[in-house]
This record gives sequence, C-alpha cells and structure tokens, in this order.
Amino acid sequence: MEYRYALITGASSGIGYHIAHALAQQGLSCVLVARRKYRLEELEDELLNLYPEQRFHHIEADLVSETGRKTVQEWFSKHGIFPEIFINNAGIGTFGPVSREHIQTARNMLALNVEALSELTYWWAREAVTQKKGTLVLVSSVLGFFPCPYMATYSATKAYVLSFGLALRYELARYGVRVFVLCPGATRTEFQEKAGMTHLTMIYMKPEKVARITARHIVKSTHRPLIIPGLMNKLSVILMRRIPPSWASSIMGFLIRHAKHESQT
Ligand code: NDP
Repeated sequence: MEYRYALITGASSGIGYHIAHALAQQGLSCVLVARRKYRLEELEDELLNLYPEQRFHHIEADLVSETGRKTVQEWFSKHGIFPEIFINNAGIGTFGPVSREHIQTARNMLALNVEALSELTYWWAREAVTQKKGTLVLVSSVLGFFPCPYMATYSATKAYVLSFGLALRYELARYGVRVFVLCPGATRTEFQEKAGMTHLTMIYMKPEKVARITARHIVKSTHRPLIIPGLMNKLSVILMRRIPPSWASSIMGFLIRHAKHESQT
C-alpha cells in the first residue's frame, strides 16, 4: 500500500499540532518534527488511535542547529519517502525593544524562522521539482506585511518568509508544485508565553480553526497563494497595505504600547 506523507515542523504544539490532526483526518500519513520528544510521541499515539490505517512517525530535532536540519533530511532519504505536503511551520517570537534584547535570542530566532525554514525548503523543493508534484506551506504571519515595533526582528523574519514564499511559488508553479504562505494573526498557542507577551490584550483565534482553514485551503485546487485566517486579520492586512509602511509601523507601535499600558493599570 502506498502512503501519502505530510511533513510538519513544529508539530509538538499550537498550529503545527492541529495541522497534523487536520491533515491526518484527510487521510495523510504524517512525519512530525520538533524538539520535545514526549509531545511528539503523544501526538503520534493520538493519531494512530484515530487513524490506524495510516502511518505516523516523529523526528526529534532542534532545527536551530545544522545537525537537527540534517537529521530531518537524512531520515527521509533513509526511508525513501517524499513528503508531498510540507508544512514549514516551526517558529519562535520575542517581544520587547531591540535595545534590551540579547543578541543570542535574536540569533536563535533568525536561525529557526529564516535559516532552518529556508534550508528545509531548498532540500524539499529539489525533490518536488524532480517528482513534479508537492504542496509547500510556509508559515509567516500578518506581521509579515508590516514592520512591528517591539517585535522588530520577528516581524522582519516573517516578512522574509512572505517574500521568499511568493517568489518561490512562481518558480515552482511550472513544475506542478504549489506554494502557499500562511499568515495567521494572534492565535492562542504557547507562542505568546514563550515570547513573553501574555500581558498584551489581543483578540485570539483558536489554533484548531487556523489549522482547519489551512487544511481546507490546500486540498482545494485553489491558486490563491495567501492563507489569512479570519476576517479581522484579512481586513487589517488590506488596511495596512494601503498606507505607507512607516505609518503602519507607527500605528502598530502605538497599539502595542497602549495594549501594554491597559493591562498594567
Ligand atoms: P507554538 O510555540 O505553540 O509552536 C511552535 C512549534 O515550533 C512547537 O512545536 C515547537 O516545538 C517548535 N519549535 C520551536 N523551536 C524549535 C526548534 N529549535 N527546533 C524545532 N522545532 C522548534 O507556537 P505556534 O503554533 O503559534 O507557532 C507556529 C508558527 O506560527 C510559528 O512560525 C509562528 O511564528 C507562527 N505564528 C504564530 C502566531 C500566534 O499568534 N501564535 C501568529 C502568527 C504566526 P518544540 O518546543 O518541542 O521544539
């Protein structure tokens, strides 16, 4: 029996975890990647119980490191599997002024959000072009559309993902390979706690919903390259793109400072 595989990085929590569930529900076998082995094992068991006729595997890998990225690539060549859907999702954020952030924190974020995402995409794209099939989802953010003070490096990494993804989409289309860029807005996951921004007042989407919308988008034979879940997020992107980036940045800075002030009073 031939299995259709999806590779999901950052599957141990949040959006990645729910996308794994949504794709498994559509009959895909999944390879789950993250650092927390116990979380991956739990998810693997959950999926296997729900869909015993499919295959589920996990790879414990720290994608900040070269070794972690190679571990993923070697696993696939060893097993002779091509993941025809690749959800390039693992990412971290930080919150606070650049002047107070440690450079090593920013380096880790750049290594994961930009370097690891790119390296795994380069590896996957080569095989996808040979096979003349495949679907890639790069996870950016609504913050990829405009500069965001207090998340300056993070929003810049997501602008990279957005630009890289849209350009790559054009290059790969002629080989029958599809590329989508997922741009979620604030989503209730572990992200905010890890980034140190739980004190901000925000309207959150549920990660299950983001995952459902994403899975639905990629099974449709749609050619719309951007997946922006939620009406509010779509509207804020439309609005912010109509004004100069420097204005958008000032508005974001003001909103963040105000939200912070509100929660502290
Ligand atoms: P979570 O923190 O819940 O998930 C992040 C995932 O990335 C986890 O599975 C984590 O697993 C994995 N990860 C983190 N560091 C590494 C690493 N060094 N190597 C391998 N895997 C790693 O956050 P989200 O689900 O919210 O984030 C998923 C994506 O969505 C990110 O790219 C984020 O930027 C983006 N996003 C999130 C938004 C939000 O508001 N939540 C809004 C817009 C975009 P582990 O720790 O086990 O390694």
